[in-house]
Amino acid sequence: MTPRAEVFAVGDELIHGANLDTNSKYIASQLEAAGLHVARFTVVGDEPAALRDALAEASRRAALLVVTGGLGPTLDDRTRDVLAELRGGPLWFHEPSWQQIQAWLRQRGRPVPESNRRQAWFPPGAVPVPNPVGTAPGFRVELGAATVFALPGVPREMQQLLAQTVLPALADWPGLRPIAQRWLRILGPSEALLGERIESFMLPGRDPAVGITASGGLLTIRVVGSGASPAAAEAACDATVAELRPRVAEWLFAEGTQELPELVVEHLRRTRLTVAFAESCTGGLLASRLVDVPGASAVFAGGVVAYANAAKQALLGVPEALLAAHGAVSEPVAAAMAAGAKARFACDLAYATTGIAGPDGGTEAKPVGTVCFARADAKGVHAWTVPIPDLGRTFVRDRAVFEVWRDLLRGGRAVPSPSTV
Ligand code: AMP
Ligand code: MG
Repeated sequence: MTPRAEVFAVGDELIHGANLDTNSKYIASQLEAAGLHVARFTVVGDEPAALRDALAEASRRAALLVVTGGLGPTLDDRTRDVLAELRGGPLWFHEPSWQQIQAWLRQRGRPVPESNRRQAWFPPGAVPVPNPVGTAPGFRVELGAATVFALPGVPREMQQLLAQTVLPALADWPGLRPIAQRWLRILGPSEALLGERIESFMLPGRDPAVGITASGGLLTIRVVGSGASPAAAEAACDATVAELRPRVAEWLFAEGTQELPELVVEHLRRTRLTVAFAESCTGGLLASRLVDVPGASAVFAGGVVAYANAAKQALLGVPEALLAAHGAVSEPVAAAMAAGAKARFACDLAYATTGIAGPDGGTEAKPVGTVCFARADAKGVHAWTVPIPDLGRTFVRDRAVFEVWRDLLRGGRAVPSPSTV
């Protein structure tokens, strides 16, 4: 049985909606990659009883508990007190930790408030974990059959202590089997349709386990397998992926965990094509997202944000008559924008977007969410329209960006539109 882990995030700011708990996500991905099964997240406020009850319960279920937050110098940071209570004894003072805290503050020319002393107190039986990037030391302590790691809440400090202390401790964790992971990226079917296609792989208890996640219009099949050795885990995953590939071949567009813009840059590099954008409703998002990727300069010629009709005419050579006859949100205008960008940037490929992002501007014929696209390449210009659901301006614009990546990765080949967005 794969050892079971649970993750705890502590802090009033997390449950009152002020801050997002990003630590749990990070910790879980690291623990899973190390071969543990993360069975639960718990997010609690600074009230000690809530943390105490949650930890006591979890210690009866899980082999490993990783707690972040509540190790600060102020009275509302109570993780150490709660663990002392659960261990049934008083906190004890660890002089070396106090020396380290003072040294860390002095090195930065900061005063040393007496309240920082609180961070050098530990629950009975705890092993202090020095913090090289902040004041709050972490600690390791046993709770029943479970091992608890208490780490600071500040993400940078948590990540440092996790890498330095928790992950190495997992190297010889009893029952831990090496794992391997694979990701098949899918464009086209709905989640339900994909699920039916690979249903026999998704039965509970299968190893390698196969699951589907949907995000940003994309589906990912995740394969996680374990083995007696890392090589055996890799081989088990390879075998499952080899069986899955033919079943999803028509929709499979990439393998791995890269983001879409990274895959686009990689695709353009491989096919030795350069691209330009003529953007109306996406307002520069296409250019910006592509430029986020290191190495974009090899494939990206440039872009124009042509929002007003006058800009479409002046910067992209869209004929005034075309705008008057069809309106700015139309396939002929999108086609003229793409052709204009391709010529002006002297590139292999240009995409245009023009649409109604809302909330105003929709009509019966062209409701909010109507977005026209065009692709200009060596074969000519092709324009098409996608009725994007009106789920808000950001959604419509993001979905329009997604549509361009989709077409780009498909090399302009027609694919069924995803029915989940
Ligand atoms: P604490 O160790 O509880 O004093 O937390 C210090 C700071 O780290 C908080 O004010 C938050 O800004 C941040 N933080 C704490 N917990 C989390 C978490 N679960 N996810 C992201 N940031 C966090
Ligand atoms: Mg806190």
